[in-house]
Amino acid sequence: MFQIDALPAFSDNYLWLLQDHARQRCAVVDPGDAAPVLAWLAAHPGWQLSDILVTHHHADHVGGIAQLKAATGARVYGPAQERIPERDVALAEGDRIRVLDREFVVYEVPGHTLGHIAYYHAAPDQPWLFCGDTLFAAGCGRLFEGSPAQMHASLNRLAGLPDATLVYCTHEYTLSNLHFARAVEPHNPAIAARFAQVSAWRAQGRSSLPSSLALEKATNPFLRCGETSVKEIIDERDGARQRSPDELFACLRTWKDGFRID
Ligand code: ZN
Ligand code: FE
Repeated sequence: MFQIDALPAFSDNYLWLLQDHARQRCAVVDPGDAAPVLAWLAAHPGWQLSDILVTHHHADHVGGIAQLKAATGARVYGPAQERIPERDVALAEGDRIRVLDREFVVYEVPGHTLGHIAYYHAAPDQPWLFCGDTLFAAGCGRLFEGSPAQMHASLNRLAGLPDATLVYCTHEYTLSNLHFARAVEPHNPAIAARFAQVSAWRAQGRSSLPSSLALEKATNPFLRCGETSVKEIIDERDGARQRSPDELFACLRTWKDGFRID
């Protein structure tokens, strides 16, 4: 049996813990804090943390690596183009790694940071995507280092993966992202339905993740720059003119950066 759970950290991070029950081995993605992982290991005697997968260099994704490596000897994978503490294996576009006996392909997805990578496992029925702070449920990461065109290309690339792909992003931002999605497309019934669903889940303290690419394509404004409804509202806000898809994406990202929920 194979299981993937979210270990909450800080105010809204999830450390994804992949568990191979047959071998009692596990791997963690983006451990910004060691404590939740060490607590899980203490509660599960006999289990070994074998691998640590890192998407980018921000502190809330790498802060626990050194302590976890010291405690468990786990192998640390991370982007070649960024400074990652204790990194054993430097990864670049197209690299393939085996973790817990499953193959993951590495995609370079610059935008949030310049060296950001994502990990994709092409399971036949439900593939998995660990995309850090690039694609969020109903949103995307802020552009700290890359350009709008870079982030837009990265997101489009992820959107090209199979619809059934499960999206494991790092933050529980879904509800606030859906507030923005509703402002962008007030008449999109899929966004309204997701807003109601996620509101109910969050009220119960339940995670809104993982998402799926099918759901993201239907409700995530940053994957919907080509929709007429999105073009029209950007024209309304920023003045009507011909805009490229990258320019539309840039307008949306700037709007979101200043967006406040009232
Ligand atoms: Zn980040
Ligand atoms: Fe983050």
